[in-house]
Amino acid sequence: MFAPFHEALADPPGRLSLLRRRSGRPLIGVAPAYFPPEWVHAAGGLPVAFWGAALPVARADALLPPYCCPVARSILEMELAGRTAELAGWVFTSLCDTLVNLREIFRRLSSRPTLVFPIPLATDPFARRRRLAELIPAAFEDLGRLTGSAATGASLASASRLYGEIRNLQRRLYSLRRSRPGLIGVRNFYAALRAGFFMEPEEYRGRLADLLSRLEAAPEPPAGRRPRLFLSGMVVPPDEVLGLLEHLGLDPADDDFANGGRMISRPVFDPQDPAGSLEAAIFGGTPCCCLHVPGTDRAAVFPRLVREAGAGGVLLLPVRCCEPDAFERPAIGAGLAAAGIPALTMEMDCESLPLESLRTRLEAFRELLEESGP
Ligand code: SF4
Repeated sequence: MFAPFHEALADPPGRLSLLRRRSGRPLIGVAPAYFPPEWVHAAGGLPVAFWGAALPVARADALLPPYCCPVARSILEMELAGRTAELAGWVFTSLCDTLVNLREIFRRLSSRPTLVFPIPLATDPFARRRRLAELIPAAFEDLGRLTGSAATGASLASASRLYGEIRNLQRRLYSLRRSRPGLIGVRNFYAALRAGFFMEPEEYRGRLADLLSRLEAAPEPPAGRRPRLFLSGMVVPPDEVLGLLEHLGLDPADDDFANGGRMISRPVFDPQDPAGSLEAAIFGGTPCCCLHVPGTDRAAVFPRLVREAGAGGVLLLPVRCCEPDAFERPAIGAGLAAAGIPALTMEMDCESLPLESLRTRLEAFRELLEESGP
């Protein structure tokens, strides 16, 4: 059932080449986060989203400081090693300082054109919408230069519908995981979610719909798979960590990953309300450590998210050297402690992970949750 999703993620360079041949569209690399993939599709391209990769970093080391996060390091390494050679261009947002600087490196070193979409810093939603309304036409012009064709009203409406359907299917997948613990393995769940970044959207929509029908008709999984966790971090952790959770019988009930729960909590772009829907697609939904939205303090919101998910504890999985996440972590830890919710922090890296030590810490955390759980 899950094989096509795992296959889509297994060999990124091979996948890119297959996607380009099959789709006939120029492939556009989308760096994290919140650039609407439906815009790329409407402009005749095929968006391929990169959220970091598990690979040894050698070339990128010469261009980045050692305190740069592994998401940026691995994306640059892929580019310098020729693993993204099938791409026609890249799009970035100004989500964090690292990404702003990474785009500058790409602009100087890559043979491919790049686009950057600046995310407004204003805290007033009306000011943000005004600024977005000014930025949107220029972004579509730049995107047209990358893909070689312009988005039209009809292509935008159709792409927004397509990606909206995908978003709804992904929400069903999340809801199924929450309501039927143990039905979907941890690795399988995140493969089904992340494969959408490396598939043609029409194929992905079909495969996801088929998977959901089969899962919804599947017999109840054996009861008693406790404890349940809320996972938090910027990106879905490497497969080895997901495999550890699965092996130890720790069941994620929900997450707030920017390429997971945070993404599906946001609406897709609506061409009928460009600035308003883009503002909601960037700033709405589950709060993000990179975006300051008054009234959505993550430390205060977190305990509610955890309780709504029915989770007994939180696994904080910050990406190493991710500054926006690191600055918020103490407040989040204090908020969870005040709410009596146990939490464990394990820093994530794409290049190397101390799996044995992570296993020991997870086993101890599981025992703690079993003792304190319902
Ligand atoms: S992991 Fe953090 S520092 Fe790295 S690109 Fe994402 S938000 Fe920026």
